[in-house]
Amino acid sequence: MRRTVFRSAFRTSSWPVSWLGACIGLAVAMVFAAAAAQAQLVPGTMDVHWNEGAQNCKASPQPPLQVHAYNAQTYILRENLCSTFEAPFMYLLIGSTKALLIDTGDVADPNEMPLERTVMQLLPGEGTAKLALLVVHTHRHLDHRAGDGQFARLANVEVVGFDIDSVRRYYKFTDWPGGTAQIELGGRTIDAIPTPGHNETEVSFYDRNTGLFFSGDFLMPGRLLIDDARADLASAQRAAAFVKDRPVSYVLGGHIEMDARGELFPWESQYHPHERALPMTKDDLLALPAAVGSFNGFYTTSGKFVMINSIRILIALAVLMVVALIAIGFLLVRFVRRRRARKLQAGSAR
Ligand SMILES: [Zn+2]
Ligand SMILES: [Zn+2]
Repeated sequence: MRRTVFRSAFRTSSWPVSWLGACIGLAVAMVFAAAAAQAQLVPGTMDVHWNEGAQNCKASPQPPLQVHAYNAQTYILRENLCSTFEAPFMYLLIGSTKALLIDTGDVADPNEMPLERTVMQLLPGEGTAKLALLVVHTHRHLDHRAGDGQFARLANVEVVGFDIDSVRRYYKFTDWPGGTAQIELGGRTIDAIPTPGHNETEVSFYDRNTGLFFSGDFLMPGRLLIDDARADLASAQRAAAFVKDRPVSYVLGGHIEMDARGELFPWESQYHPHERALPMTKDDLLALPAAVGSFNGFYTTSGKFVMINSIRILIALAVLMVVALIAIGFLLVRFVRRRRARKLQAGSAR
């Protein structure tokens, strides 16, 4: 009897119970899938203290280039603040058939910045057996490509052009800025994702092996300079959709311009005491569309994001200066005329 009651009760509630069971099963499967994806990522360490630069660079000479091994196949390079206030980051990803260098920094002269020599030393193989190298850029601004010349005309090295036509042609983007492209390094696939907005040539990169997302100046712990707000918002939405169901270990940008409290260092500062860590997170990337959506087109802070359109601010300042000059000229003319009128009045009274 009890069994019958239990069975009938079970039967009457079988639909919600089986539905609940299916939901729990699905949730568990999703958690396991996410954990499996995370577990499959090749790990690395971001335990590094970047050189702080100096208050007086002339008085305290600095090594021009700092190299951090994230793991044995992934290197993060940074130009010293004393070599250039931009202190850009560059990334070297090594596969079994090819290596990829993302950006070449802000200093052209190999005597000042031994980028090519350092990168070649990190690549496996000797002489003609050296691993092939592909050099790409997050975007065409000079602080991300000034070192290109060091790699030009080297055997087994290809440098992708930085202008928009070269970028679109190399990656075979037919629906720019839609779609993604893939770079195969041998057992290591890198996705290239168009992210224009800061600059029209901006491309972000996602390394499927490590889960690292390289965001250039599109997203970094510093001033987000936005040339085209509409393009930037669309890029933020596309990047967020791209990472949504993918594991992301760290989001690594082109510069650090903030201290650990989130305060910006002065523009062009060559001394970064208590600098904020480089990595941003998948959550930051997912929060970017809402932040860019709130951008007023000139200057907006939203959470940890500081968004600036420097061109518009410069134009606004120039307009203000012209208006101020016209106002000063007008007041001067009025002052001179009144003085002259007063003099004439005083002359005729005499
Ligand atoms: Zn830039
Ligand atoms: Zn930059």
